[in-house]
Amino acid sequence: MDSIEVMIRSDEKGYFDRECPNEECLYQFKIKLNDWKEKVSDEVHCPMCGFVADADKWWTQEQLDSMREIATSYAMNKIQAELDKSFKKLERSTRNKFIKIKYKPGKRISFVNNPIGQMEEWETEIVCPECDTGYSVIGTAYFCPCCGHNNVKSALVESLVSIEKMVDSLDDIEALLEEKVGKDTARDMTRKMLEDSLENVVSAFQKYAELLYSQITNKKVRVNDFQMVQKGSDLFKDACGKEYSAWLSQYEIDRMNLLFQKRHILEHNAGIVDDKYIQKSGDNNYSVGQHIVLNKSEVYELLNIINKLCDGLAQECD
Ligand SMILES: [Zn+2]
Ligand SMILES: [Zn+2]
Repeated sequence: MDSIEVMIRSDEKGYFDRECPNEECLYQFKIKLNDWKEKVSDEVHCPMCGFVADADKWWTQEQLDSMREIATSYAMNKIQAELDKSFKKLERSTRNKFIKIKYKPGKRISFVNNPIGQMEEWETEIVCPECDTGYSVIGTAYFCPCCGHNNVKSALVESLVSIEKMVDSLDDIEALLEEKVGKDTARDMTRKMLEDSLENVVSAFQKYAELLYSQITNKKVRVNDFQMVQKGSDLFKDACGKEYSAWLSQYEIDRMNLLFQKRHILEHNAGIVDDKYIQKSGDNNYSVGQHIVLNKSEVYELLNIINKLCDGLAQECD
């Protein structure tokens, strides 16, 4: 079997493109070419889905296409050389017979081994705190491709930043939508987006708390444990000796609880206030049957509280 040497080139910042072989994912990321050569051993972790596979499985579609091209042109070239040889033989062996075969070698397909190119450089650059491998992604990533370390804090920070940017641009989005769908629908749609952003803050926090907690204790929690403020606070008190009040004022804890309850009602009761909501949130601005109103300022407020709390948790408990 022939082997062709393929040259691999990094981009301007020294990165090498990779793609998750998990069919469900196919997430593309970049890793420092030197780290790939020196640090990555047999197994590679997908930064997005955490799938683990052998190091030779991570070619991007573009790289595979280039390699296919290289291999095809190599094969064509070889076939032509073989063809030339056998026709020459045929020519010689038929020289003294009645029938003469003449073969003129055709124009050769030249064999070019192009270096495999890279996509343009990406924005988010991450260095793994565990193994120092440098990698680059678009959007949020969770796992180090080299050692699989789950960087829960940076994933949380990135999620919160993108939620905040979403809320920042709601007025612009509404203006754009107004042109397309009219004032009423535009207002309804952006209100829904604001409500979704509250849901997203809560689930980003829940995911973070769950992973951090299981990294510390090796224990799993029930699905909704960190959606309940008091429960979550108690779990961290057991795990690392400090409860939420170590980093948040009582007022902030109350607000966090109220906004978590608002999210619960929006998510599970179509926004209609019930007895449980009033009881658990301590919110006396509503009576049963009313519809929850959510303001932008409340989403910003919760973002601040969660940022503060998670900074504290990361410092004390990570
Ligand atoms: Zn993946
Ligand atoms: Zn690592």
